[in-house]
Amino acid sequence: MSKKLFAIFGDPVSHSRSPLMHNSVFKKLNYKACYTRVRLEDGTKLRETFFDLKLYGANITVPHKEAAFKACDEIRGFAKEVGVVNTIVREGEKLIGYNTDADGFMFAIKDFKNIRSVLVLGAGGTAKALSKKFQLEGMDVTLLNRSESRLVSYREDGFKTFTFEDFKPIAYDLVVNTTSAGLQDEAYPAPLKLLTKTLKECNYAADAIYGKVTPFLKLCSELKIESIDGAKMLLGQGVLASHYFSNKELELSDIEREMKHSFSI
Ligand code: NDP
Repeated sequence: MSKKLFAIFGDPVSHSRSPLMHNSVFKKLNYKACYTRVRLEDGTKLRETFFDLKLYGANITVPHKEAAFKACDEIRGFAKEVGVVNTIVREGEKLIGYNTDADGFMFAIKDFKNIRSVLVLGAGGTAKALSKKFQLEGMDVTLLNRSESRLVSYREDGFKTFTFEDFKPIAYDLVVNTTSAGLQDEAYPAPLKLLTKTLKECNYAADAIYGKVTPFLKLCSELKIESIDGAKMLLGQGVLASHYFSNKELELSDIEREMKHSFSI
């Protein structure tokens, strides 16, 4: 039997650890599959590229998660709540879309205690998934974004929303950076003065970005705030995605064990 091919789509995508994580699981658990990366500029080309490459499944990262939702024939589970897809699995000629980011994040913050209020920085695909998940978990959720346009739909869904111009910092249990500020540059996700004032009042912080100490995380450590980077979230979403990729043939606990090893490679 030939190997099944999987890929991650994004732009940029060269920084992604997903190929390493998934390939090490496939190899260690003797699953006949291989995982690669595809840089995709135009999200509307996702579906045809998926079929052209004869893929069995894919993960989707910045900036195509909303396009991935549109590319699917059927959406299952939490992805239906948020309109954002980070995992696609092929069933025959149909593309099935899932979202494993939010559950991956809950896995990442399981050691943070008594989180009742959260400030989410950013209003893109990741923010959408996480804020909805926090809301479903009964947390009080506020969004702060650079531009106003993306906040409109959040307001309609009952979230408190602010731009840098009208935000007044108060105490939040958790501040989460879901922006891509700091991914390829040294930018802060919000103006430094505003961010410092906000972080000083919070208990915990988390950054969705992994693989580097972002200016946001540097600031957290200077202010002595307990924080995590995106590696744990990445692990959680990857474990769940691999479970779907293998049609649940691979056990979650086995996937988690092997995928964790790939983080020390
Ligand atoms: P999107 O492109 O959907 O959204 C990006 C958001 O970042 C927007 O709200 C945008 O604001 C904001 N933004 C971008 N640049 C800046 C800046 N310089 N200053 C302030 N705000 C900025 O991206 P995603 O939600 O898909 O991904 C966001 C980040 O999360 C990425 O860095 C990605 O790598 C990371 N991620 C990590 C995961 C993990 O497993 N650890 C999983 C998923 C994502 P505006 O509306 O004004 O443009």
